[in-house]
Amino acid sequence: TDSHELSERTDSHEPSSERTDSHEPSSERTDPRGSLLETIGHTPLVELETGPPSVPVYAKLETFNPGGSVKDRIGKHIIERLLDRGDLPPGGTVVEPTAGNTGIGMAVAANQLGLDTVFVVPRGFSEEKRRLMAALGAEIVDVPGDIGMSGAAERAHEIAEQREDAVVPQQFATPLNVEAHYETTGREILEALGEEIGAVVAGVGSGGTLMGIARAVRERVPDVHVVAVEPEGSTFGELLDEHREEGDYKTEGIGTHDPSVAELLDPDVLDEVVTVSDRDAHAELQRLASEAGHLVGSSSGAASVAARRVAERIASGDLDAPAETVVTVFPDSGERYLSKNIYGSFEAWEGKA
Ligand code: PMP
Repeated sequence: TDSHELSERTDSHEPSSERTDSHEPSSERTDPRGSLLETIGHTPLVELETGPPSVPVYAKLETFNPGGSVKDRIGKHIIERLLDRGDLPPGGTVVEPTAGNTGIGMAVAANQLGLDTVFVVPRGFSEEKRRLMAALGAEIVDVPGDIGMSGAAERAHEIAEQREDAVVPQQFATPLNVEAHYETTGREILEALGEEIGAVVAGVGSGGTLMGIARAVRERVPDVHVVAVEPEGSTFGELLDEHREEGDYKTEGIGTHDPSVAELLDPDVLDEVVTVSDRDAHAELQRLASEAGHLVGSSSGAASVAARRVAERIASGDLDAPAETVVTVFPDSGERYLSKNIYGSFEAWEGKA
Protein backbone atom coordinates (compact mmCIF):
# COMPACT_ATOMS: atom_id res chain seq x y z
CA THR A 1 0.00 0.00 0.00
CA ASP A 2 0.97 3.66 -0.29
CA SER A 3 1.39 4.10 3.45
CA HIS A 4 3.60 1.01 3.62
CA GLU A 5 5.79 2.33 0.82
CA LEU A 6 5.90 5.72 2.46
CA SER A 7 7.03 4.27 5.80
CA GLU A 8 9.65 2.17 4.06
CA ARG A 9 11.03 5.19 2.30
CA THR A 10 10.99 7.17 5.52
CA ASP A 11 12.85 4.35 7.25
CA SER A 12 15.54 4.34 4.64
CA HIS A 13 16.34 7.93 5.51
CA GLU A 14 16.87 7.12 9.20
CA PRO A 15 20.53 7.40 10.12
CA SER A 16 22.03 3.99 10.74
CA SER A 17 25.62 3.16 11.48
CA GLU A 18 25.36 -0.08 9.46
CA ARG A 19 24.16 1.71 6.36
CA THR A 20 26.54 4.66 6.29
CA ASP A 21 28.48 3.20 3.37
CA SER A 22 25.39 3.06 1.19
CA HIS A 23 25.31 6.85 1.25
CA GLU A 24 28.65 6.98 -0.53
CA PRO A 25 28.19 7.69 -4.24
CA SER A 26 28.50 4.50 -6.27
CA SER A 27 31.47 4.53 -8.60
CA GLU A 28 29.18 3.32 -11.38
CA ARG A 29 26.78 6.17 -11.02
CA THR A 30 27.64 9.54 -12.52
CA ASP A 31 27.72 12.51 -10.19
CA PRO A 32 24.21 14.04 -10.28
CA ARG A 33 25.73 17.48 -9.72
CA GLY A 34 27.06 19.36 -12.70
CA SER A 35 27.86 22.84 -13.90
CA LEU A 36 25.45 24.84 -16.02
CA LEU A 37 28.03 24.75 -18.82
CA GLU A 38 27.70 20.96 -19.00
CA THR A 39 24.01 21.31 -19.87
CA ILE A 40 24.86 23.08 -23.12
CA GLY A 41 24.32 20.98 -26.24
CA HIS A 42 23.04 17.36 -26.35
CA THR A 43 19.72 18.86 -27.49
CA PRO A 44 16.83 16.66 -28.65
CA LEU A 45 16.53 15.72 -32.31
CA VAL A 46 12.88 15.17 -33.19
CA GLU A 47 11.04 14.10 -36.31
CA LEU A 48 8.72 16.72 -37.77
CA GLU A 49 5.29 15.87 -39.13
CA THR A 50 5.40 16.18 -42.89
CA GLY A 51 2.60 15.38 -45.27
CA PRO A 52 3.39 12.99 -48.14
CA PRO A 53 5.17 13.01 -50.48
CA SER A 54 8.16 13.57 -48.26
CA VAL A 55 11.11 11.86 -46.63
CA PRO A 56 11.62 12.18 -42.84
CA VAL A 57 12.68 15.62 -41.58
CA TYR A 58 14.44 15.94 -38.22
CA ALA A 59 14.93 19.17 -36.26
CA LYS A 60 17.46 19.84 -33.52
CA LEU A 61 15.70 21.79 -30.77
CA GLU A 62 18.21 24.40 -29.60
CA THR A 63 15.85 26.15 -27.22
CA PHE A 64 16.73 23.35 -24.76
CA ASN A 65 20.06 25.10 -24.07
CA PRO A 66 20.22 27.01 -20.74
CA GLY A 67 20.34 30.41 -22.47
CA GLY A 68 17.53 29.30 -24.77
CA SER A 69 19.29 29.26 -28.12
CA VAL A 70 21.84 27.58 -30.39
CA LYS A 71 24.29 30.35 -29.47
CA ASP A 72 25.06 28.88 -26.03
CA ARG A 73 27.22 26.40 -27.90
CA ILE A 74 29.52 29.06 -29.34
CA GLY A 75 29.42 31.14 -26.15
CA LYS A 76 30.86 28.22 -24.19
CA HIS A 77 33.29 26.98 -26.84
CA ILE A 78 34.71 30.34 -27.91
CA ILE A 79 35.21 31.66 -24.37
CA GLU A 80 36.75 28.42 -23.07
CA ARG A 81 39.19 28.31 -26.00
CA LEU A 82 40.14 31.99 -25.67
CA LEU A 83 40.87 31.40 -21.96
CA ASP A 84 42.84 28.19 -22.69
CA ARG A 85 44.96 29.97 -25.27
CA GLY A 86 45.61 32.90 -22.97
CA ASP A 87 43.97 35.31 -25.45
CA LEU A 88 41.47 36.25 -22.76
CA PRO A 89 42.87 36.94 -19.27
CA PRO A 90 41.13 35.40 -16.22
CA GLY A 91 38.53 37.89 -15.00
CA GLY A 92 38.71 39.69 -18.35
CA THR A 93 35.97 41.22 -20.49
CA VAL A 94 34.22 39.87 -23.57
CA VAL A 95 33.04 42.60 -25.98
CA GLU A 96 30.85 41.43 -28.86
CA PRO A 97 28.54 42.92 -31.50
CA THR A 98 25.32 40.90 -31.30
CA ALA A 99 21.61 40.98 -32.05
CA GLY A 100 21.02 39.09 -28.83
CA ASN A 101 21.25 35.32 -28.85
CA THR A 102 25.05 35.35 -29.10
CA GLY A 103 25.16 37.87 -26.27
CA ILE A 104 22.98 35.68 -24.08
CA GLY A 105 25.07 32.60 -24.91
CA MET A 106 28.32 34.42 -24.21
CA ALA A 107 27.00 35.91 -20.96
CA VAL A 108 25.91 32.48 -19.68
CA ALA A 109 29.45 31.15 -20.24
CA ALA A 110 31.13 34.35 -19.04
CA ASN A 111 29.18 34.32 -15.77
CA GLN A 112 30.12 30.71 -15.14
CA LEU A 113 33.76 31.47 -15.87
CA GLY A 114 34.04 34.75 -13.95
CA LEU A 115 34.26 37.19 -16.87
CA ASP A 116 32.55 40.48 -17.68
CA THR A 117 30.54 41.14 -20.85
CA VAL A 118 29.82 44.21 -22.98
CA PHE A 119 27.48 43.84 -25.97
CA VAL A 120 27.01 46.27 -28.84
CA VAL A 121 23.40 45.83 -29.95
CA PRO A 122 21.88 47.44 -33.06
CA ARG A 123 18.36 48.74 -32.31
CA GLY A 124 15.39 46.90 -33.78
CA PHE A 125 16.08 43.39 -32.53
CA SER A 126 13.85 41.71 -29.97
CA GLU A 127 13.45 43.46 -26.62
CA GLU A 128 13.33 40.10 -24.84
CA LYS A 129 16.89 39.32 -25.89
CA ARG A 130 18.09 42.73 -24.73
CA ARG A 131 16.44 42.27 -21.32
CA LEU A 132 17.91 38.79 -20.94
CA MET A 133 21.41 40.11 -21.69
CA ALA A 134 20.86 42.81 -19.06
CA ALA A 135 19.55 40.24 -16.56
CA LEU A 136 22.78 38.31 -17.05
CA GLY A 137 24.66 41.42 -15.96
CA ALA A 138 25.97 42.45 -19.37
CA GLU A 139 26.68 46.07 -20.15
CA ILE A 140 24.64 46.97 -23.24
CA VAL A 141 25.73 49.58 -25.76
CA ASP A 142 22.85 50.53 -28.06
CA VAL A 143 23.73 51.58 -31.59
CA PRO A 144 21.44 52.64 -34.46
CA GLY A 145 19.92 49.75 -36.39
CA ASP A 146 21.10 51.14 -39.73
CA ILE A 147 24.81 50.78 -38.92
CA GLY A 148 24.30 47.01 -39.22
CA MET A 149 26.44 44.27 -37.75
CA SER A 150 29.60 45.62 -39.42
CA GLY A 151 29.07 49.04 -37.77
CA ALA A 152 28.40 47.32 -34.45
CA ALA A 153 31.63 45.33 -34.88
CA GLU A 154 33.66 48.53 -35.40
CA ARG A 155 32.16 49.97 -32.26
CA ALA A 156 32.97 46.80 -30.29
CA HIS A 157 36.64 47.07 -31.33
CA GLU A 158 36.76 50.74 -30.25
CA ILE A 159 35.38 49.79 -26.84
CA ALA A 160 37.80 46.87 -26.46
CA GLU A 161 40.80 49.07 -27.31
CA GLN A 162 40.03 51.22 -24.30
CA ARG A 163 40.13 48.28 -21.88
CA GLU A 164 43.27 46.34 -21.22
CA ASP A 165 41.56 43.05 -20.38
CA ALA A 166 39.05 43.03 -23.24
CA VAL A 167 38.74 40.74 -26.25
CA VAL A 168 36.26 40.82 -29.18
CA PRO A 169 35.60 37.15 -30.08
CA GLN A 170 33.84 38.19 -33.34
CA GLN A 171 31.44 35.36 -34.08
CA PHE A 172 31.33 36.40 -37.75
CA ALA A 173 35.06 35.87 -38.22
CA THR A 174 36.40 33.38 -35.67
CA PRO A 175 36.88 29.78 -36.83
CA LEU A 176 36.00 28.83 -33.22
CA ASN A 177 32.34 29.48 -34.15
CA VAL A 178 32.41 26.77 -36.83
CA GLU A 179 34.55 24.53 -34.60
CA ALA A 180 31.90 24.68 -31.82
CA HIS A 181 29.29 23.27 -34.21
CA TYR A 182 31.72 20.79 -35.79
CA GLU A 183 32.55 19.37 -32.36
CA THR A 184 29.04 19.45 -30.85
CA THR A 185 26.00 20.02 -33.12
CA GLY A 186 27.44 18.09 -36.07
CA ARG A 187 28.71 15.19 -33.97
CA GLU A 188 25.40 14.92 -32.10
CA ILE A 189 23.54 14.67 -35.43
CA LEU A 190 25.92 11.93 -36.61
CA GLU A 191 25.51 10.06 -33.32
CA ALA A 192 21.72 10.18 -33.72
CA LEU A 193 21.40 9.37 -37.43
CA GLY A 194 24.66 7.70 -38.45
CA GLU A 195 25.11 7.87 -42.20
CA GLU A 196 21.38 8.22 -42.88
CA ILE A 197 21.66 11.93 -43.72
CA GLY A 198 20.57 13.06 -47.16
CA ALA A 199 20.53 16.81 -46.65
CA VAL A 200 21.47 19.39 -44.03
CA VAL A 201 19.32 22.54 -44.12
CA ALA A 202 20.00 25.51 -41.81
CA GLY A 203 19.44 29.24 -41.61
CA VAL A 204 22.56 31.36 -41.93
CA GLY A 205 23.52 34.44 -39.93
CA SER A 206 27.22 33.98 -39.28
CA GLY A 207 27.05 30.62 -41.06
CA GLY A 208 28.72 28.90 -38.09
CA THR A 209 25.89 26.44 -37.47
CA LEU A 210 25.64 25.27 -41.09
CA MET A 211 29.40 25.18 -41.77
CA GLY A 212 30.17 23.24 -38.57
CA ILE A 213 27.43 20.66 -39.16
CA ALA A 214 28.32 20.32 -42.86
CA ARG A 215 32.00 19.77 -42.10
CA ALA A 216 31.24 17.07 -39.54
CA VAL A 217 28.62 15.28 -41.65
CA ARG A 218 30.67 15.40 -44.89
CA GLU A 219 33.42 13.39 -43.18
CA ARG A 220 30.99 10.46 -43.02
CA VAL A 221 28.56 11.32 -45.84
CA PRO A 222 30.68 13.11 -48.49
CA ASP A 223 27.74 13.74 -50.87
CA VAL A 224 25.34 15.15 -48.28
CA HIS A 225 23.33 18.01 -49.82
CA VAL A 226 24.07 21.26 -47.94
CA VAL A 227 21.43 24.01 -48.02
CA ALA A 228 21.69 27.52 -46.56
CA VAL A 229 18.42 29.29 -45.75
CA GLU A 230 17.97 33.06 -45.97
CA PRO A 231 14.94 35.35 -45.81
CA GLU A 232 13.64 36.95 -48.99
CA GLY A 233 15.44 40.30 -49.21
CA SER A 234 18.75 38.90 -47.93
CA THR A 235 21.62 38.53 -50.39
CA PHE A 236 23.68 35.48 -49.33
CA GLY A 237 22.61 33.86 -52.62
CA GLU A 238 25.07 36.18 -54.39
CA LEU A 239 27.86 34.03 -52.95
CA LEU A 240 26.70 31.36 -55.42
CA ASP A 241 26.36 34.00 -58.17
CA GLU A 242 22.58 33.97 -57.90
CA HIS A 243 20.60 37.15 -58.33
CA ARG A 244 19.03 38.52 -55.13
CA GLU A 245 16.77 41.56 -54.77
CA GLU A 246 17.82 43.35 -51.58
CA GLY A 247 14.90 44.19 -49.32
CA ASP A 248 13.71 44.45 -45.72
CA TYR A 249 12.77 41.32 -43.85
CA LYS A 250 11.44 40.58 -40.40
CA THR A 251 12.74 37.03 -39.93
CA GLU A 252 15.28 37.44 -37.11
CA GLY A 253 18.72 35.88 -36.72
CA ILE A 254 19.38 34.97 -40.34
CA GLY A 255 20.15 36.87 -43.54
CA THR A 256 22.27 39.87 -44.48
CA HIS A 257 22.54 42.75 -46.92
CA ASP A 258 26.32 42.32 -47.01
CA PRO A 259 27.33 38.68 -47.68
CA SER A 260 31.01 39.53 -47.10
CA VAL A 261 30.40 39.97 -43.32
CA ALA A 262 29.93 36.21 -42.94
CA GLU A 263 33.60 35.34 -43.42
CA LEU A 264 32.89 31.80 -42.23
CA LEU A 265 30.33 30.97 -44.88
CA ASP A 266 32.31 29.04 -47.49
CA PRO A 267 30.49 28.99 -50.86
CA ASP A 268 32.39 25.83 -51.83
CA VAL A 269 30.63 23.93 -49.04
CA LEU A 270 27.14 25.08 -50.13
CA ASP A 271 25.01 23.29 -52.69
CA GLU A 272 22.17 25.81 -52.54
CA VAL A 273 20.98 29.01 -50.87
CA VAL A 274 17.21 28.75 -50.48
CA THR A 275 15.05 31.85 -49.93
CA VAL A 276 11.97 31.85 -47.66
CA SER A 277 9.59 34.82 -47.48
CA ASP A 278 8.61 36.38 -44.15
CA ARG A 279 5.04 35.38 -44.90
CA ASP A 280 5.93 31.70 -45.35
CA ALA A 281 8.24 31.66 -42.29
CA HIS A 282 5.53 33.27 -40.15
CA ALA A 283 2.76 30.93 -41.35
CA GLU A 284 5.05 27.96 -40.69
CA LEU A 285 6.05 28.95 -37.15
CA GLN A 286 2.36 29.42 -36.32
CA ARG A 287 1.51 26.06 -37.89
CA LEU A 288 4.35 24.40 -35.95
CA ALA A 289 2.89 25.81 -32.71
CA SER A 290 -0.79 25.14 -33.30
CA GLU A 291 -0.46 21.76 -34.99
CA ALA A 292 2.65 20.25 -33.45
CA GLY A 293 3.34 22.13 -30.19
CA HIS A 294 6.67 23.61 -31.30
CA LEU A 295 7.19 27.11 -29.89
CA VAL A 296 9.92 28.42 -32.17
CA GLY A 297 11.20 31.71 -33.56
CA SER A 298 10.96 32.94 -37.15
CA SER A 299 14.34 31.56 -38.23
CA SER A 300 13.05 28.10 -37.24
CA GLY A 301 9.91 28.73 -39.30
CA ALA A 302 12.10 29.56 -42.31
CA ALA A 303 14.30 26.48 -41.70
CA SER A 304 11.23 24.25 -41.48
CA VAL A 305 9.78 25.57 -44.77
CA ALA A 306 13.10 25.05 -46.54
CA ALA A 307 13.68 21.59 -45.03
CA ARG A 308 10.20 20.44 -46.06
CA ARG A 309 10.76 21.69 -49.62
CA VAL A 310 14.06 19.78 -49.81
CA ALA A 311 12.38 16.65 -48.37
CA GLU A 312 9.65 16.82 -51.03
CA ARG A 313 12.24 17.15 -53.80
CA ILE A 314 14.11 14.08 -52.49
CA ALA A 315 10.84 12.12 -52.23
CA SER A 316 9.81 13.01 -55.79
CA GLY A 317 13.22 12.19 -57.24
CA ASP A 318 13.93 15.83 -58.23
CA LEU A 319 16.92 15.92 -55.91
CA ASP A 320 19.50 13.20 -55.72
CA ALA A 321 20.60 12.84 -52.09
CA PRO A 322 22.74 10.11 -50.47
CA ALA A 323 19.95 9.16 -48.01
CA GLU A 324 16.23 9.78 -47.62
CA THR A 325 16.49 11.99 -44.57
CA VAL A 326 16.69 15.76 -44.02
CA VAL A 327 18.12 17.42 -40.89
CA THR A 328 17.52 20.99 -39.81
CA VAL A 329 18.03 23.20 -36.76
CA PHE A 330 15.45 25.18 -34.77
CA PRO A 331 17.72 27.88 -33.25
CA ASP A 332 15.45 29.46 -30.61
CA SER A 333 11.98 29.89 -29.09
CA GLY A 334 8.98 31.98 -30.09
CA GLU A 335 8.79 33.23 -26.49
CA ARG A 336 11.79 35.39 -27.33
CA TYR A 337 9.61 37.38 -29.77
CA LEU A 338 6.29 37.76 -27.94
CA SER A 339 6.73 41.55 -27.80
CA LYS A 340 7.07 41.48 -31.60
CA ASN A 341 3.63 39.91 -31.94
CA ILE A 342 5.06 36.73 -33.38
CA TYR A 343 1.84 34.84 -32.59
CA GLY A 344 -0.38 37.62 -33.95
CA SER A 345 -1.47 38.18 -37.54
CA PHE A 346 1.20 38.50 -40.21
CA GLU A 347 0.45 42.23 -40.46
CA ALA A 348 0.79 42.67 -36.69
CA TRP A 349 4.17 40.90 -36.76
CA GLU A 350 5.35 42.95 -39.72
CA GLY A 351 4.42 46.05 -37.71
CA LYS A 352 1.89 47.27 -40.25
CA ALA A 353 -1.21 46.78 -38.12
N1 PMP B 1 18.51 31.85 -35.86
C1 PMP B 1 18.64 32.68 -34.83
C2 PMP B 1 17.43 33.01 -34.01
C3 PMP B 1 19.90 33.24 -34.53
O1 PMP B 1 20.03 34.09 -33.49
C4 PMP B 1 21.00 32.91 -35.34
C5 PMP B 1 22.34 33.54 -35.08
N2 PMP B 1 22.37 34.89 -35.54
C6 PMP B 1 20.82 32.04 -36.42
C7 PMP B 1 19.55 31.52 -36.64
C8 PMP B 1 21.93 31.71 -37.39
O2 PMP B 1 23.00 31.01 -36.83
P1 PMP B 1 24.47 31.16 -37.39
O3 PMP B 1 25.01 32.49 -36.93
O4 PMP B 1 25.22 30.02 -36.79
O5 PMP B 1 24.44 31.11 -38.88
